[in-house]
Amino acid sequence: MSNLPSEPEFQQAYKELSSTLENSSLFEKHPDYKKALQVASIPERIIQFRVTWENDKGEVQVNNGFRVQFNSALGPYKGGLRFHPSVNLSILKFLGFEQMFKNALTGLSMGGGKGGADFDPKGKSDNEIRKFCVSFMRELNKHIGADTDIPAGDIGVSPREIGWMFGAYRAEKNKWEGVLTGKGGNWGGSLIRPEATGYGLVYYVQHMIQYASGGKESFEGKRVAISGSGNVAQYAALKAIELGATIISLSDSKGALIATDAKGITPDVVEIIADMKVKRKQLSELAASAEYKSKFTYIDGARPWTHVEKVDVVLPSATQNEVSGEEAAKLIALGAKFIAEGSNMGCTQEAIDAFEQDRREKKGDAIWYAPGKAANAGGVAVSGLEMAQNSQRLKWTSEEVDEKLKGIMKNCFENCLSTAKEYVASAEGEFPSLVAGGNIAGFSKVAAAM
Ligand code: GLU
Repeated sequence: MSNLPSEPEFQQAYKELSSTLENSSLFEKHPDYKKALQVASIPERIIQFRVTWENDKGEVQVNNGFRVQFNSALGPYKGGLRFHPSVNLSILKFLGFEQMFKNALTGLSMGGGKGGADFDPKGKSDNEIRKFCVSFMRELNKHIGADTDIPAGDIGVSPREIGWMFGAYRAEKNKWEGVLTGKGGNWGGSLIRPEATGYGLVYYVQHMIQYASGGKESFEGKRVAISGSGNVAQYAALKAIELGATIISLSDSKGALIATDAKGITPDVVEIIADMKVKRKQLSELAASAEYKSKFTYIDGARPWTHVEKVDVVLPSATQNEVSGEEAAKLIALGAKFIAEGSNMGCTQEAIDAFEQDRREKKGDAIWYAPGKAANAGGVAVSGLEMAQNSQRLKWTSEEVDEKLKGIMKNCFENCLSTAKEYVASAEGEFPSLVAGGNIAGFSKVAAAM
């Protein structure tokens, strides 16, 4: 019995991973990995701190700041910072736990961590956000470093916030080092880092499509439903369009934007949306505008899944638990063939169970689910490439970084597939569980290193 407070998101992530390990032959082949799982499920260290800052009225404000240093067996702690009012230790532990295995799946030398604050950037002025970032780093700088722990962005933390925190770190430490990734391009950031999570997600799904169709199909002609409208969703949409797909939805925290026009959400619209997000405008404004009201509808309070009509590929790219069991059943009924998470733990356990059951029952004609820790690993992978460039004082071209990203996503897909075939799939034919494969491959690497 544990006296620790209940941590629903962390427990969900732990159960999702441990159940796939237990239902495989992993512990038979490696009995010592059972203990490794027990050890790996407790963070090496959690730092929790107070962040005081001053709002534009000169009033003192206070928030909770955190850094969960989960595991450093494979390299320095690595993972993003999330600024969102929902942030608490359960959420950061789930994210840090997932990050540890995701980072292992990139094949790069990175341990796992996550951090953030329960600060809500919404409704704050730029000046207030800057002041918060500086105060946050005033404490965090004591616990991180280019060879210790390298944070990056996540929800609520974009290159702008990374810039403010990087400046604060330099001022505190009197030192330039690659302590954060996702930096601006002209002061140490890697080309393709902003695009990397979305592009990597599409590269991963491209491998799923090619494998499933025996090389006959690609994104060409596919209808793609995406949720979210931040960095991941925007670049996933642009890459999928470049490869010939039609984007039929996006969303924001208030509702879903559904394309009613055959062309779907085109690159110029993605650009408008990117600009609206910087200005913190709602997508409902776009759907209500004279120019776009015939092309889109906006459904208040909804997620896209039950409002799309015909869909081939589903990319949840907003936040955790954004696909319920019922929505999963609807997507299966609509004939969706591929679902891959741009968000971390985008699907509830009920949704994963529905997708996995469909895959087992229908084999090749089913939906095929890829978990975020594999499918969205492109973001942290390019963070790893940014660390390598910073260490060498070099800057690679976009083409070089993109090629490396493609290679990493290909290896990640093949690793998930072959690991699943080795440990779970003999009874499951050619379409093994990518969730089991990803979990076993990521966990085994960490366990062996520990
Ligand atoms: N927040 C991203 C993730 O969930 C990126 C982390 C990083 O680049 O360190 O993987």
